[in-house]
Amino acid sequence: MISVEEALERILAGIAPLSVSQVPLAESLGLVLSGDVVAQEDMPPFANSAMDGFALLGEESRPRDGQPPRLRVTGTVAAGYVAQHSVTTGTAMRIMTGAPVPPGADAVIQVELTRSDSPQSEWVEILQEVKPGNNIRPAGEDMRRGQTVLVRGTEIGPWEIGILATLGKATVPVIRRPRVAILGTGDEVIEVDQPLQPGKIRNSNSYLIEAAVRRAGAIAHRLGVAQDTVESLREKFSQAMQADLILTSGGVSVGDFDLVKNIMAEQGAINFWRINMRPGKPVAFGHIGQSPLLGLPGNPVSAAVTFELFGRPVIRKMLGHTRLLRPQVEVIVEDGVADVAMRRHYVRAHVTWRDGRFVARTTGNQGSNIMTSLLNANALVIVPEGGVQVRPGDTAQAMMLDWPEVE
Ligand code: AMP
Ligand code: MG
Repeated sequence: MISVEEALERILAGIAPLSVSQVPLAESLGLVLSGDVVAQEDMPPFANSAMDGFALLGEESRPRDGQPPRLRVTGTVAAGYVAQHSVTTGTAMRIMTGAPVPPGADAVIQVELTRSDSPQSEWVEILQEVKPGNNIRPAGEDMRRGQTVLVRGTEIGPWEIGILATLGKATVPVIRRPRVAILGTGDEVIEVDQPLQPGKIRNSNSYLIEAAVRRAGAIAHRLGVAQDTVESLREKFSQAMQADLILTSGGVSVGDFDLVKNIMAEQGAINFWRINMRPGKPVAFGHIGQSPLLGLPGNPVSAAVTFELFGRPVIRKMLGHTRLLRPQVEVIVEDGVADVAMRRHYVRAHVTWRDGRFVARTTGNQGSNIMTSLLNANALVIVPEGGVQVRPGDTAQAMMLDWPEVE
């Protein structure tokens, strides 16, 4: 049996970011940029007004003999239009926010600092002196042509999408999403729309894993459930071999005749098949053909927890992320952990920030078949291997499942 750390290291060692693809901008959310993004134009592309007001020559705003200067208004520039004439001595033009500054003008005074008889008035009084450049957003103030604005490896979020749109990138070079094949195993497992029959249970794992795979950013393909026979598994695996990653659940413990392990040995290679942890000792890793296969345990809680620990980092690495693992914090385990285990124990818990520290409450019965222990859990309290006891009020490390990954 190997440690969680060694398992993770062995799994990630053979995983690399997938190939590059161009995706439409709106579909790039959450993906990783596969190349630098260089501005091909100045942003803003032209000097424009930061305010609604009047474009003028700054030096003409200076009071004369203690009186506010009066300028003749020769027209209006709205956003989206270009002035047809220049601002000259003794004149000003009405201008809107975002409109290009007309030639000749070197400043904009906001409308609040002016006085006119009516909105269409031909004259405007300038009530405050403004310097050249006032309220003007110069061309290239935000981004300059030739400037590298986003670097390769950046995760694309809504703000990056805004920048990419500004730069006219209708498609974006990214690392493509992995395709993940998901396979259930077991003669007892029936589909979710089937009524229960004696001895049967519904296939919860495939759906749980599919959702977790999608949340990690991959494309999930559920391939149904293989029977506990070599033939049935072989047939399902032949469909799964196109995938970038195969996830199975069940069929790797000794009681299952080691079916998944046998097929891995037959059609690829086994790297390991047991981890010193709980829940989820029977986790297998290896290859079927060229595709990595992560064999998750059959017990739903074990499948859920081991996916978070091993499956999600694999998908993130394939997506080109460098931050692969959830952060850990020290918590007070308010209610303690009832059972003492020799294996590393990942205890489902709800962690909150209270009175200046993180406090964890475990989610009750921690049996690997107790699916309700997953409800309301946002963290895994980590009890080290070797029979460590965590009493109420003791501190422990917790892995935060609802915090973004760190390096
Ligand atoms: P196994 O690892 O195949 O021995 O399965 C361990 C436990 O998980 C057994 O109680 C199985 O019935 C259960 N199990 C296996 N596969 C699934 C599944 N797809 N959905 C729900 N429970 C499952
Ligand atoms: Mg089974």
